Formats: sequence, structure tokens, C-alpha cells
Amino acid sequence: MTVVLYNSLTRKKEPFVPIKKDHAGLYTCGPTVYHYAHIGNLRSYIFEDVLKRVLTLDGYTVKHVMNITDVGHLTSDADEGEDKVEREAKKEGKTAYGVADFYTRAFLNDLQRLNIIKPDVMPKATATIAEQIDFVKKLEKKGYTYETSDGVYFDTSKVHDYGKLVRLDAQQLRPGSRIALGEKKNPTDFAVWKFSKHPGERAMEWESPWGVGFPGWHLECSVMSMIHLGETFDLHCGGIDHMPVHHTNEIAQSEAVTGKPFVNYWLHGEFLVIDEKRMGKSEGNFVTLGELEKRGFSPLAYRYMVLGAHYRTKLNFTFEALAGAQHALDKLYRYAQDFGKPSIGCAEYEEKFLEAVHNDLDTPKGLALLWDLVKSDYPAGAKKASMVYIDKVLGLGFAEVEPPVVPKEVSKLVAQRENARKKKDWAASDALRKEIAQLGFTVEDIREGAIEMHKLREM
Ligand code: AMP
Ligand code: ZN
Repeated sequence: MTVVLYNSLTRKKEPFVPIKKDHAGLYTCGPTVYHYAHIGNLRSYIFEDVLKRVLTLDGYTVKHVMNITDVGHLTSDADEGEDKVEREAKKEGKTAYGVADFYTRAFLNDLQRLNIIKPDVMPKATATIAEQIDFVKKLEKKGYTYETSDGVYFDTSKVHDYGKLVRLDAQQLRPGSRIALGEKKNPTDFAVWKFSKHPGERAMEWESPWGVGFPGWHLECSVMSMIHLGETFDLHCGGIDHMPVHHTNEIAQSEAVTGKPFVNYWLHGEFLVIDEKRMGKSEGNFVTLGELEKRGFSPLAYRYMVLGAHYRTKLNFTFEALAGAQHALDKLYRYAQDFGKPSIGCAEYEEKFLEAVHNDLDTPKGLALLWDLVKSDYPAGAKKASMVYIDKVLGLGFAEVEPPVVPKEVSKLVAQRENARKKKDWAASDALRKEIAQLGFTVEDIREGAIEMHKLREM
């Protein structure tokens, strides 16, 4: 089955055709490590994880690269303000490298708790400075850059299709618009190299042909993706906030250097919102995964909640909705436990599930099908097998759920009850059923006439 994906670049759903047969190169913009990730950021990483799991299930060897932005992300997208990591270091009384290291570890821990498969490569911006300087040199040689008093800028007017990702109107972009230009030639021009204001003050700064400084945030992603995935690669993802500036600039500078298309499929996830407002660090309305746990929720309940909305629709976060997700997920775990050992799966549900997720990652439909499956008439082992299969995409941990261990005395009573039923001694059978129930187990007569034991719980 071919996965069909909504490509932001063409604004169409398109079948995925890889550059190299059976291989998929995937770049996902990673965290700026100056704070804990909030659950809005994590929503984006969950959708990207689903994409990767679908491709993997389809037999692709996925090479997944995610950068760690440990330098160069300024407090404003307009190349103004302080470096986020440096600012946090001052606030916390730590070194910039100490801050980046601490929050990188915290981030990896978040990924693990959410069952997000770790990327194959996680390059750090500070570890690729030489390559970034080389990239700027190439841009300079081709005439795309100019210097101002605070950095080396990319001249966006030199790119005929600048802004194609978001269909920016050329009129809005050129001088004369209301955006303060400063020394920039065009409002959309952006820094590829920033000068240190006072060399020696920053912990993270490097010599370059243009002066001591540090790379621009957009540059990092172009350079790190190309190092690991080549000049043109298959898939690039992020949240929708990255479309107008960050990804637009990545495309402009990358295609300027190589003269080739940068990425074939761009995928963008919608926001997690609270009361219609985007969850964000600067919005001050953010919640971390650790906070959800402190309130008694499991990280996978959050994953379940995220899967319940299509990645291209806004998802409103409330604790009530999360409680609903937790309840539903607990119920699914009980089913998984009760179904016991997997046998041969139900092809009907597995196929329908695959169809849903191959249609632009329709996980809400996938979850609905999962519920249909667990409530269906198929034998328990078949349902368990399909739950485990489907979980390769959902990543909710159904494979790890153990069947209940039935104590010997309970098994003995069950055998006695079987005998009573064979003799049609309904009174004895009923009495035994009650005795079994007192030990915390129920006995269910399932379709094939076999007896299965289910740990007694509320369903
Ligand atoms: P950042 O660390 O700000 O670069 O963000 C990391 C990822 O989270 C990016 O892909 C952003 O687009 C994404 N993101 C930021 N805020 C939200 C939100 N409220 N909902 C979903 N994704 C978000
Ligand atoms: Zn990026």
C-alpha cells in the first residue's frame, strides 16, 4: 500500500515516491534546548513518529535525522534579541553548554516516555560549525549574501521563488512594507551568520571569515540535513509555525547553494491549543510532560489523546480530555491483557487500519477501528494479534501488556465448573462461578466453547 501524504509545498495529497527505492530520508526540526519541551512541541514529534512508523511498516529503511539547536535560536524570528540558550544560562547561573546538555537529556527522556522512536542521527548545531561556515562561503561566492554591522545576511530578492512554501506575495516582501528594515535590504532577508556584539562575552562563538559570531538558526537545519541526507531528500517535517520563516528560509538558502530542489515532501503539524491560543513558551500557557505525570497521567495517555486528532487539525488541550484519554487507554490495556496470547490476526481490521493510516496518517480513524476490533466477535487471540500489529504504528504499548497469571486454585475451580457444566449441574456450576469471582476472576464462555479466564475488573 502506498502512503499518501499532504505536501505543504504542492498543497495536495500525493502518493509518497522515494528518491531511492526502499529508502526514506526524513528530517524533523528538533528542539531548541533552553527549556523543557512543552506538550505542544511533543505533539509535533508524535505526528512525525507516526509517519516514520508507517514508512517502516511499509518496508522502507528510514534514515531519520533530528537536529539539536544548542546555539543561534534568537528570542525573535526577525534575527533580533538574545540567543535563547545563552539567556537561559545567565538566568540559571549555568554554562550555555550545561544548559543545552541538561535539556537535551530531558528531551530524550520525553521521547522515550512517549514511545517516540529515537532518531538515527541527532546532530548538534555546535558540532557542525565548520560545515556551516563552508555553506555561508558558498552562498557568498554565488552572490547571495551581504554584510551589515551585525551579521551576514541572505538576500531573498535574489531568489525568484522565495516564499513558495507559503505563497508569499512578492509585494509584501519588498522594501516599502511596514516591517522595520534596519540595515537589511529586504524585510525577509535573514542572518546566516551573526556577529557577537562583544566578542568574548558569549560562551558559544566562533571565528569566521566575516568576524567572531555564531550561525543563524535556519542555516543549521539546511546544513545538518544535507550532511546526513544529501542535497535533495525525501521528507521534512515540523509544526506549521515553521512554514513562513524557518522552512521558507531553509528552502531559499539550500536551493541557492545546490541549484536543486531541497526537499520533495514537506509535512506540517497543526498546533496544540489552549482556549484557542497556541501553546507556547512565550505565550506562557505551556504544560510539560512531567507536569502531566505529577497529576497522575501517563505519558502514553497524552500520546493517545494526540492520536485522536488528525495531525493537520488543531487540538484543544484540557485536563478533562486527557482524563478521557487515560480512561480509554486503560480500558484498551485491560482488553489487551484479557485477550491473552496473540494468535493469527484479523486481516479485515488490519487492512482497514492500514488504509486509514496510509491516507495522510488518519490516526483518529485508526483508533476508531481499534475500538471496533476489540469489541468484535473475533477470537481473543486474533484480536490481541491485531492490537499488537496495529500498535507498530500507534506505539501505545499493547505488545508489552502481559496476560493475567491465573492462580492454581482458580484453575482447579474452573476445571470443576467445566465438569459440572458437562453434567448439566447448573446449580453447582453457578456456585463455582461465584467462588471463582470471590478470588477476583470471572469465567467467560466464549464463542468456540472454550473457557477463558478474565481477571475481574470493571470494564
Ligand atoms: P521549537 O523548539 O520552538 O523549535 O519547536 C519544536 C517543534 O514544536 C517545532 O516543530 C514546532 O513547530 C513545534 N511546536 C511549537 N509549538 C507547538 C504547538 N503549540 N503545537 C504543536 N507543535 C508546536
Ligand atoms: Zn529546522
